[in-house]
Amino acid sequence: MPADVFFADMRTKQGLNLLDKVDRLYERAGFEKLFKPKDLVAVKLHFGEKGNTAYIRPQFIRRVVDKIAVGGGKPFLTDANTLYRGSRSNAVDHLKTAIENGFVYSVAGAPIVIADGLNGKDYISVEVGLKHFDSVKIASAAYHADAMLVVSHFKGHEVSGFGGAIKNVGMGLGSRSGKQQMHSDLLPSVTVEKCAGCGRCMDWCPTGSITVIDRKASIDENRCYGCGECTVTCPECAVAINWKTDQAAFQEKMVEYMAGAIKNKKGKVGYMTFVMDVTPDCDCCGWSDTPIVGDVGILASLDPVALDQACVDMVNKQRPLPNTRMDGTADGEDTFRRIFPWIDWSFQLKYAEEIGLGSRDYNLIQL
Ligand code: SF4
Ligand code: SF4
Repeated sequence: MPADVFFADMRTKQGLNLLDKVDRLYERAGFEKLFKPKDLVAVKLHFGEKGNTAYIRPQFIRRVVDKIAVGGGKPFLTDANTLYRGSRSNAVDHLKTAIENGFVYSVAGAPIVIADGLNGKDYISVEVGLKHFDSVKIASAAYHADAMLVVSHFKGHEVSGFGGAIKNVGMGLGSRSGKQQMHSDLLPSVTVEKCAGCGRCMDWCPTGSITVIDRKASIDENRCYGCGECTVTCPECAVAINWKTDQAAFQEKMVEYMAGAIKNKKGKVGYMTFVMDVTPDCDCCGWSDTPIVGDVGILASLDPVALDQACVDMVNKQRPLPNTRMDGTADGEDTFRRIFPWIDWSFQLKYAEEIGLGSRDYNLIQL
């Protein structure tokens, strides 16, 4: 059955600016009914890597925060730490980056909680029993929240083709070691030259696969099951992150993480996506290249699959902009495949529909 996706375009006039449109979308999509008084409501967003400028402006976030608060909910802004060592791989750096990017209380109107804690080890194992994972590691503050509003910036992504609501929740709310599990099909290995022999990885390894002899760690591949704890624990970055994965498997794993992240929130999650500043790369990058299509608008739905499908369809209807990454790409109707011809982004949508997270069929309702 088609899901309703509400759409506000970019046109504005006196008495109706884009912030007002956020309010209207919130109401039309039925988000007011999702959050009860006193609910702790996680507003899942991406604060942007240091140097990135395309993430959603805090002023937009303020509007949804105020709407949640008017209904009696207690909103907080949240994201989980990154696997890679950028400006958001622990809670201290992450908070500093978020504040420097403008997500201060006086602007956004809600406190920030880094969902997987100080060093990315605060997570809950949530049983999903799916193709790739029996259980997934969901950042604990997101799991313990009563409800969630997922606010996503729609843009390209170098591994999943595009990043929308599914990626924001699935990848975004995995703990650091969970992110390693999504990104890699390979077991980690120790770069001996970098190892200082501190033994921290050995202490964290749940399977006792690591031994340290003569101040050098080694991993028993017969016992290791690839949980990624050693990778995220090593202070010397001596346990190599294997980023290689099959693209279909990567997207499906991301979807399974999403299933875990919303499992205890039936009827308590809303999704709003900003199709603006559609950059070729993710907000995890410390730069923002020129947007590849013009701004499209803001969409909202209770169905994340329908929402992502509607967003990608709308981007594909736009004319690629000159003097952008689209220049020099082969002609084609699919915007993201022109930039990343080797990535079929549809795996995430197909699998999400298959496991019951939503429908690719939608009714687009323009405000
Ligand atoms: S945590 Fe890193 S530096 Fe310490 S023993 Fe393990 S691999 Fe070596
Ligand atoms: S990936 Fe997990 S199981 Fe394997 S060595 Fe590292 S900590 Fe141990």
